[in-house]
Amino acid sequence: MNDVRQPLRVMRRGMNFSQDGPGNRLVIHLQGCNLRCPWCSNPESMPLEGIELQTNPPRRSCGIMYPEELAAEAEAAKPLMFGGGGVTLTGGEPTMQYSPLRETLERCKNAGIHTCVESNATHPKLQELFTLIDFLILDCKHYNDMEHKRWTGLDCRQINENLRLAAEKRTQLLIRIPLIGGVNASPDDARQFARHFKSLGADVFAAEVLRYHTYGQPKWAQCGLEYAMRDAEISDEAFAVFCGILEEAQIKLCAT
Ligand code: SF4
Repeated sequence: MNDVRQPLRVMRRGMNFSQDGPGNRLVIHLQGCNLRCPWCSNPESMPLEGIELQTNPPRRSCGIMYPEELAAEAEAAKPLMFGGGGVTLTGGEPTMQYSPLRETLERCKNAGIHTCVESNATHPKLQELFTLIDFLILDCKHYNDMEHKRWTGLDCRQINENLRLAAEKRTQLLIRIPLIGGVNASPDDARQFARHFKSLGADVFAAEVLRYHTYGQPKWAQCGLEYAMRDAEISDEAFAVFCGILEEAQIKLCAT
């Protein structure tokens, strides 16, 4: 029964329209991530225990909430969840807090709230949450095992397995590619992504290509970390070429 009372470390939360799932949603960012992407726009999310941010005044990156508190907040926000909205649990990586995440999803489902999870797809028990998730967003940062490990610290075998399982079992699935110059953004990368998605069952899911941005860069300094990404911007032309190759390969793309 300890799991039932396990709290969540929550970074921030607020209503957001149509960015992380359909409609107007209560988007809850959970603390902790097992990857170390150098382009991360939420570096303060990485340590599971949270981090003291070097802001003025200094502040802690996360607070503590119990699943029933989050679910009650979601219930109270129901009148605002128009356009097919609901609650989205994202991160960081939400499955880092697997048990209380599960309980939060169960409570929201029981309250009739549409649920969405955005995940880096690395958790080995992700598929056990599928029945609790109405809309699943999974990242696919690279198709190549070695490159994935080089850039994020972890290979993509479990991710591929989770993508395959999700494609097999779900219709409400969105795959997100963060498009990063020098990492995964060349025309050849696009062709490899297309082949990869086809092998996973791409005809049952849609993909969204998100261009690299530097919005999170100042936060790296607040975390006492060096921002190492250089020259990773994607030109309009390179973006169009990348998306065009995916579309030619019959990958359904969402507008970004
Ligand atoms: S998976 Fe997401 S939250 Fe985790 S380090 Fe990478 S970009 Fe940041």
